[in-house]
Amino acid sequence: MNRKTKIVATLGPASDGKEMLAKLFTAGVNVVRINFSHGAPDDHRQRVANVRAVAREMGKPIGVLADLQGPKIRIESFVDGSVELKNGQTFTLDTEMESDAGTSEAVALHFKPLLADVRKDSQLMINDGAIALTVTEVDGPRIVTRVDVGGTLSGRKGVNLRGGGLSAGGLTDKDAQDIKLAAELEADFLAVSFVRNAADMHLARRMLSEAGGNARLCAKIERAEAITALEEIIAASDAVMVARGDLGVEIGDPELPGVQKRIIAQAREMNRLVITATQMMESMISNPTPTRAEVLDVANATLDGTDAVMLSAESAVGKYPVKTVEAMSRICLGAERESGRGRAQSGLASHFRKTDEAIAMATMYTAGNMHADAIISLTESGTTALLMSRQDTSIPVYALTQYDRTEQYLALCRNVYPVHFKPSELNGLAPVNEAIACLKELGAVSTGHRVLLTKGDFTGAGGTNAMKIVTVE
Ligand code: PGA
Ligand code: MN
Repeated sequence: MNRKTKIVATLGPASDGKEMLAKLFTAGVNVVRINFSHGAPDDHRQRVANVRAVAREMGKPIGVLADLQGPKIRIESFVDGSVELKNGQTFTLDTEMESDAGTSEAVALHFKPLLADVRKDSQLMINDGAIALTVTEVDGPRIVTRVDVGGTLSGRKGVNLRGGGLSAGGLTDKDAQDIKLAAELEADFLAVSFVRNAADMHLARRMLSEAGGNARLCAKIERAEAITALEEIIAASDAVMVARGDLGVEIGDPELPGVQKRIIAQAREMNRLVITATQMMESMISNPTPTRAEVLDVANATLDGTDAVMLSAESAVGKYPVKTVEAMSRICLGAERESGRGRAQSGLASHFRKTDEAIAMATMYTAGNMHADAIISLTESGTTALLMSRQDTSIPVYALTQYDRTEQYLALCRNVYPVHFKPSELNGLAPVNEAIACLKELGAVSTGHRVLLTKGDFTGAGGTNAMKIVTVE
């Protein structure tokens, strides 16, 4: 319970089955990602049912993040499954070709607007940049290119335009269907892919609420345009993802590290959650130990202040999903020893708009200066705990709530430990005493510990209006 940085694991064939899920949760997974880019609705239903069942049996709050495919542009397929592209050769993307007629000379790509989005010298990246093409000519329905970086290419791989500017819209018909599925699955988070601006997020939110869902919304930052609209996108979202797979291809390697740091800092500043994703432990798809570069990547994201680090293929189709989660967890814990030793400072000079915000900040300030051992937030919506978690501190925040939804939401939140708790009565000393007894039982606090506790006098979200300082008896 003492790792601040949370772990998101993408589910897939390698992580299916209740026994495997139990192992992954024990190893440290806090949130699972259901990837709507792969699999049928019934696969997703089965996975989520298993996750909920195992989480309940284990008494662990596990969040479910449903991830929309979005308007990812893909090539169609090849007659022989795959082809070898040689550097310098000509390769054509043909919007009028039959789907499965691809050869080493040309392949179908059924996204007509691409014809207008590219011009001579545009760079197209296929399969997360593994294959790079430069456009030499747009010839009617065909885009003729020169292969700059060749290699093996198989069907249905994604296509990105370096520098961004693809005119694909924010949400596809499939996304609209999948939003309904996410609502049916009662997902805790809905991730929106290839977001361009705040309007994309507003639309997704409206569609989700029309479908009866109340998931928190996560904007995947993976297009060059999203960087220019970063602030408005974060404002329109509950969480963001540094989606380095597509983002790296669009903006290029030199920009990526700085942009990761900027997105994390900005999200925290605006009281939003942030996930760092893609290729964090890539080599562990087939190896039992990470590379040094991966160790440093996960550690650096932790030091940047990310709420969570994410696994994609490593946990969905990799050979060592449990070992990968264990390694990631160890690396985060190690890196955390190097961070968060300071006192809460950021945001303390700002003007507090709301009572719960004022209490949260007063608590963090006091906790840091008193060297408190723990912070307890009795919370309904989780907002107070979220506000507290935006401060860099090594004092753990225990969020006690009777609502599963709040626990599952806070499962993603850095340095917040959600605990199921329902006091016998709301007024008087009962909630405080019972909360401390509950954490004592869990081994989170012990006699002599100084604890700061926040609560509200009334029920209802955003009702926190009091801080108490208690020494555990
Ligand atoms: P994806 O998103 O795995 O759905 O492509 C993450 C990324 O692009 O990094
Ligand atoms: Mn992506």
